[in-house]
Order: sequence, then C-alpha cells, then structure tokens
Amino acid sequence: MTIPSVVVYSTPLRSRFRGLTARDGVLLRGDAGWGEFSPFWDYDDAGSRPWWRAAREAADEGWPAPLRTRIPVNVTVPAVDPVRAAQIVRAGGGCTTAKVKVAERGQDLGEEQARLEAVRDALGPHGRIRIDANGAWDLDTATDRLRLLDRAAGGLEYAEQPCAAVADLAALRRRTHVPIAADESIRRAEDPMAVVRAEAADVVVLKVQPLGGVRAALRIAEQVGLPVVVSSALESSVGIAAGLALAAALPELSHACGLATVHLFAHDVVDDPLLPTDGAIDVRRVAPSEAALALSGADEETTQRWLGRIDAVAGQSAR
Ligand SMILES: [Mg+2]
Repeated sequence: MTIPSVVVYSTPLRSRFRGLTARDGVLLRGDAGWGEFSPFWDYDDAGSRPWWRAAREAADEGWPAPLRTRIPVNVTVPAVDPVRAAQIVRAGGGCTTAKVKVAERGQDLGEEQARLEAVRDALGPHGRIRIDANGAWDLDTATDRLRLLDRAAGGLEYAEQPCAAVADLAALRRRTHVPIAADESIRRAEDPMAVVRAEAADVVVLKVQPLGGVRAALRIAEQVGLPVVVSSALESSVGIAAGLALAAALPELSHACGLATVHLFAHDVVDDPLLPTDGAIDVRRVAPSEAALALSGADEETTQRWLGRIDAVAGQSAR
C-alpha cells in the first residue's frame, strides 16, 4: 500500500500547549517532497492562505540551498509544574537554551517563578532561558513580571511577545533591560515592519507556515534586519523540516531556534522524528511512513474536516 498524496494526521499532545491537547493537520506530497498544511483552528480561510502557500512551496518547489547543516534549538517547557519542567529540560536532547511558557490562564506568579527556578537548576548557570507570554500582559504587568521573572530565572535571554500591542512592546523595551522578541506582532500583523519602525523588538520570531513559506520568511527577515529565531507552529516533523530549511538559509543565525517541538506530540508522522541531539537538529527532509501513520493517522471525520478546509482555502479539490 502506498501513502496517498494527501494525508491527514491527528495526535494527542503530551502536555497542554497553546491551550491545545491535540494537534492535527494535512501532509501533501508534490514533485519536491512533502509539505504540511496545519493552520490552527482559530485561523479563518484568509488567515490560512499563507499556511497553504507554505505547504505548496514545500511540496512543489522545495527550498533554497542550506548554508548550514545543523540548527541549534531550544527545549520548550510548557506551563507545567517545576518537577515536570526540570524533567523536560533534562530530557531535552542536550539543549542549553530553554523556552518557558508563562502567563498561562489560571496560573499565578509563584508558579511561574517556581518553574523558572527549576529550569535554571536543570540547565545550569550557562544555559539560556527565554520566556513566552503570547501577548497576555498589559504594559504595567509586563514591567513587573519581567523584573521578577528575570530574577527567578537568574537572567533572561529575552521575553517573547510580553504584550500584544506594538506600542506596548516599544514602551516596555524602554523600561526593562530584558531584550524583547516579537512573534504575534510579526506573524499576525498586516505590516511586520511596524515593529521595526516603533523600535519595539530586539529579536523577531519567524514561522514558516503563517508567513507563507521559506522564501516569504527570508524576505521578511531581510526587510526587518533584526536577529531571527525560527520557531515551529507546533508541526509534525514534515512541517519542522521547513523551519529547519529557513533557519539553514538565513544569512545569519545567532540564537537557538524553537524547532524542537516534536517531542510534544504523542505520535509523529515519520519513523525518524526531527528531534535534537547535542542541542541541535540536522537539516534534512523527511517523509511520512505507514508505520508512523498507523498511530497518527486521522479518523474519517477529522479527515473530511481538513479536506473541506483545503477546498475553502485553496479554492479547489485536493483529491
Ligand atoms: Mg511565541
């Protein structure tokens, strides 16, 4: 039996992440290889179109030539308790940078401080810790939290999207010594350059699917002119390969990337997942396997839901 050229996957997550307990998406095969189309369900048809372009680029064209063969990555620590956080760092494939989720609904400052202290203990004094608040704080809360969490972490590498608004990021940047990274302000914005004009960030986070592909993300990196951290949109290894291709094609790469997220999947779609060893992931393409899809293949209802979504986004039948 051969794998069809359009396959829907679905897997539980090992930890709740971005409010999700499961992840699903579509894998597409073209002349150049496999691509992933997996906009989150809160993206409408128009918002999902760049994700579709990214999948088609991967499947039909492939990517620019890589400038490097391995990409340093961070271990991602969801909003878990301190014991679990330390376990995740220690099992993190040798990563010396950790990205820690904060500002989780229902959690308080004490839980965040305990998580960061545990991550610092597990990483050691030379590790780097970055936090991601997904735009949850207002300016004054962010100012307080950065001071307290910077102390709990024994120093933060940067804070990702502490506030939602670009103007707040710019104001916060003048109140704190912690560098600021922009994520949602780039990928969900009509105008990614607004961050640059407002001098609202020290680092930008770029994700292949929401930005419309590797080439589109490379153009944004060039326009923005700030250090780039390539991150995943919580994809299977097929989607992660595109993120690695972007990180490998950037003229400069000074920070660990957020591409080590496959370990959050209970089941991946390939036999040899894109996971880090010695803190880095090899740049390579992957293909789904029947054995992996036996565990991660979607049921008929989920499959039909995704085929309908492709029809709506791509404006044509994918079958
Ligand atoms: Mg983020």
